[in-house]
Amino acid sequence: MQFFLRKLIRYYRHNVDENLNREEGYQQSFLAGFFGLMGSIISFFTALNSLSIQLYSLAICLFLVSALLLLSFFILKSSTYKRFHNLSRYIALLGLFSLGIYLINSGGINNSGPLWICIIPSVTFAFLGLKLGLIANGVFFVISSTMLFFPSDALLATTYSYEFKTRLIYVFLTIVALSGVYEAARHYSFMRLKSMKEKYEHQAQFDYLTLLLNRRGIQKILNKEHQQRKLTNNVSTIATLDIDKFKAINDEFGHEVGDMVLKHTSRVLSDCIRSQDSLARWGGEEFLLLLPETAEQEALILLESVRECVEKTPFEHGNISIFITLSVGLCETSPDVDFNETIKFSDISLYRAKQAGRNTVFAYSPEL
Ligand code: GH3
Ligand code: MG
Ligand code: MG
Repeated sequence: MQFFLRKLIRYYRHNVDENLNREEGYQQSFLAGFFGLMGSIISFFTALNSLSIQLYSLAICLFLVSALLLLSFFILKSSTYKRFHNLSRYIALLGLFSLGIYLINSGGINNSGPLWICIIPSVTFAFLGLKLGLIANGVFFVISSTMLFFPSDALLATTYSYEFKTRLIYVFLTIVALSGVYEAARHYSFMRLKSMKEKYEHQAQFDYLTLLLNRRGIQKILNKEHQQRKLTNNVSTIATLDIDKFKAINDEFGHEVGDMVLKHTSRVLSDCIRSQDSLARWGGEEFLLLLPETAEQEALILLESVRECVEKTPFEHGNISIFITLSVGLCETSPDVDFNETIKFSDISLYRAKQAGRNTVFAYSPEL
């Protein structure tokens, strides 16, 4: 039993963590499924107990609720019946509410049955979230108070003292308030964690200075492209672009202006490339460009225009005007060579472009 419980809790913890990647509805479904299973086990044993003391109608009611909760657990657990998740949450709650109403009406065992309504608020919030949970708890509060305080106990099959009725309602409302605050805090933490996760994921993939993709960011795109290339056999081209004599700009105008030049160049490059191309800051003053479904000849023309574009758009700041040029090396991908090799080859061509006097574009050739 202990082993089973530990396994179950680990399973749910894993899924609730996993669900940070998804919408909150999934987390609710898993939580609701967990409550559903617990509720089903408890109702089952209480039903057996009622059966043993010959309270048959109560036992039937409890068996029904247990079955409904178990059914909702299985539906909420399975991803095949995802479209029934909402419905199963409502059905399970309907079962629980009906049981609560029945227990208030009949009194259960020695009038202790209504105490079970104290589990309704937390289960309702877990199943429906804050807003709908408040509405559903409100509806249950109205129904139960009407039953308890209806003139001459006309809606009750048993008799409670006035003190018991009022305390029951106070306790119910207190639990609604506490569970509501807890649910709001849980929802807030979930949203905060989700937005922090998104923020850090973004930071991990983008360069803080130029706002271009960084190495990790482009690596993801390269991997995707690699998978696609395997299926389609399309060729792509990878280019490395390096600002010429950038150190001299830093030395003459200072590091801060150097940073501005990097931002300016990134903007110009982003404007010059096509929408399907991916540009990244590969390091320092070097950029990597992926041109999907582009063969070498077409890439040469495109990169020549990119080089010209940068050359013709100097960086202007106050009375400073800095002309920037780029050296570019490129290499077409081939099916049997992986991207890291292709990047190495485009680096070799970049080196050749530098040797040839800079401000030029070189395509890779093994003879180089
Ligand atoms: P080459 O034409 O051969 O590429 O010469 P280069 O001066 O551009 O190349 P080198 O590798 O000698 O110098 C690159 C310089 O880029 C050195 C480094 O301080 C500077 N750098 C790297 N990252 C940054 C940065 O984020 N901001 C600034 N301002 N400078 C940077
Ligand atoms: Mg350079
Ligand atoms: Mg460099």
